[in-house]
Amino acid sequence: RELALLFQVSRTTAINAYRHLEKDGYISIKNGSGTYVSDRYILGNRSNYEMPWPQLLKPYMQSSMSSLMSELMVSNVLEDKISLDAGMPDPNFYPVHTFSKLYLDNLSALDPKDFGHIPIHGYEPLRNRITQMLALEGIRCHADEVVILSGSQQGLYLTARVLIEPGDYVIIQEPTYLGAIQVFQSLGARVLSLPQREHFPLEILEDYLARYRPKLMYCIPTFQNPNGAIIKAGERKQLIQLSARYRLAILEDDPYSSIYYEDIPPMSLKSLDDYGGVIYLSTFSKTLMPGLRLGYMVAHPSLINRIILEKQYVDLHSNNISQWLLDLFIKEGHLGEHLTKIRGIYKNRRDVMADALNLSFKSKLSFHIPQGGFYIWCRINESLSSKKLLQEALKTGVSFIPGEAFYAAPGEDREFRLCFSQHDEKVISEGINRLEKAMEKLKKK
Ligand code: PMP
Repeated sequence: RELALLFQVSRTTAINAYRHLEKDGYISIKNGSGTYVSDRYILGNRSNYEMPWPQLLKPYMQSSMSSLMSELMVSNVLEDKISLDAGMPDPNFYPVHTFSKLYLDNLSALDPKDFGHIPIHGYEPLRNRITQMLALEGIRCHADEVVILSGSQQGLYLTARVLIEPGDYVIIQEPTYLGAIQVFQSLGARVLSLPQREHFPLEILEDYLARYRPKLMYCIPTFQNPNGAIIKAGERKQLIQLSARYRLAILEDDPYSSIYYEDIPPMSLKSLDDYGGVIYLSTFSKTLMPGLRLGYMVAHPSLINRIILEKQYVDLHSNNISQWLLDLFIKEGHLGEHLTKIRGIYKNRRDVMADALNLSFKSKLSFHIPQGGFYIWCRINESLSSKKLLQEALKTGVSFIPGEAFYAAPGEDREFRLCFSQHDEKVISEGINRLEKAMEKLKKK
């Protein structure tokens, strides 16, 4: 507060300044005690040969959103804050008990060399098991076309690494997953956006294909993050036909399709792929637990061979012990049981959040009830900024992600994403209550 007064800046700016100093190692903040200048910056402790790291670092394309988010979260100090932001499963339902039992019961069967290196593709029994699971969903592939990844984020990065050169065009559906936009932009891609429509905008896609000859389209056809949208079955077929004609590679990111609450969603793009252009990505982060860091990719062997090379540079292979355990987990039938359980839990939470939004906001917000996934995407019907709403919401003790985070370029600031998977019904209702209070406060400003 004193710093803010001294320099006549807002309190948030002063806190931000402190956070930056802390991040760069100049100061350390000890809760309840105070803020201290780091030892090595106290006169006399500092070497004349201090490494000039900032001068050595390569230029870095920081997305405006990542800095915006860290600024907004700075004032996020309330201890009992309800976070409706991050898209994660509820840790209370992580199948930790089953995993530890499997580990203890089977550890003695392991040979020490099982803790050594394995092929870059991943643990063979798990790749075979994934191949069998995918066959049930209409994806026919050989285990050699499957690579186990350290999370599907790695798949996004590796795909972009082997395909994108600076200046290449990449098509995305907007709004979409921030982590993908950041990867494409960090590698110098020029991003073309397909706007969200009732129908998948095939005519805009065709125009982009003819005009810009993009190499890659990134899409989440089932329960899109952030808005829960689905590309309909008929549109999927047309999309594949069009992409085949233009030899467009499609990166199909599919973390949510098995977390459905109504009908089973349409078949994946990969299952319809008759020209070898679809790169299929999935993960166990949403269905099981993100800390497993296990996902996988299925694609044409020519692409997989390059991905393998690139993955070797990054981590040689993904963690074998996680892969071995996950294989046991699936083999013993736990995945199916777990999915049935979480579908029931998250469906309830979705309904409670939708009811609470209807009750508290009436016509002040518009949203669709998603048929799967973790998110409700809201649009403010009045001229209020979602970023300003977040600032108020943090004060009333609830957080969400402003819509801008899901766009390649800043757009209209009236949308935001709420995640309903992380908390129980009571907490969700309280979160929406706090959100409503925040909106009322903002309107009075
Ligand atoms: N894609 C989408 C659409 C996601 O929502 C996420 C997680 N937020 C990921 C990829 C990355 O997941 P992970 O690396 O944990 O598998």
